[in-house]
Amino acid sequence: MSTRPSKIVCVGRSYADHAKELGNAVPDRPVLFIKPSSSLIGLDDGISWNSALGSCHHECELTLRIDQTLKAETDPAKALAAIGAVTLGLDLTLRDLQTELKNKGQPWERAKSFDGACVLADWVDVSEIEDWKNVHYTLEVNDAIRQSGDTALLLFPIAEMLCDMSQAFTIEAGDVVMTGTPAGVAALAAGDQLKMTLKGQSQDFVWTTFVKA
Ligand code: ZN
Repeated sequence: MSTRPSKIVCVGRSYADHAKELGNAVPDRPVLFIKPSSSLIGLDDGISWNSALGSCHHECELTLRIDQTLKAETDPAKALAAIGAVTLGLDLTLRDLQTELKNKGQPWERAKSFDGACVLADWVDVSEIEDWKNVHYTLEVNDAIRQSGDTALLLFPIAEMLCDMSQAFTIEAGDVVMTGTPAGVAALAAGDQLKMTLKGQSQDFVWTTFVKA
């Protein structure tokens, strides 16, 4: 990644099965939040967090790089055409802290925006995606499948998600969008080995990272 994005836009509760597992209502429009670029790390850095703040959950998400500015876009085809690259990412979440913040009606930044809270794999050319409604990906932790993503199950298809987002604020060229997590989120532990796999047109893209001891 040569330049840092101006922002990383994340979608919450975008898969019904995940909303359910955390006891959240299924939303009638995308739930949006933003991670700062200071939260961004690569796979080689390894995952770490302040354990005094409680558990840290993995949320494996299909992640997009937007290469053309989207401002109040209403045309789904134009929204999709703005996507320049795709990868998998981890929206790391201090779950105990997030629950506490939610209960107090406070914003989530303390739980989702810490340094290292956004782990991104390598960008893959967008030509690897044939159909945005048929993208499959998995997260394995210590060789067991924990999360399986299928964009057919998104409550808001990616094109509509991007249009909606661009009504709320401008998505600038270079910004990153994390499209939300499927069910299976769970606490990470020191030494965990993580493997993310994205099914592309020409091959499976496989990336690994780890939780620092
Ligand atoms: Zn997430």
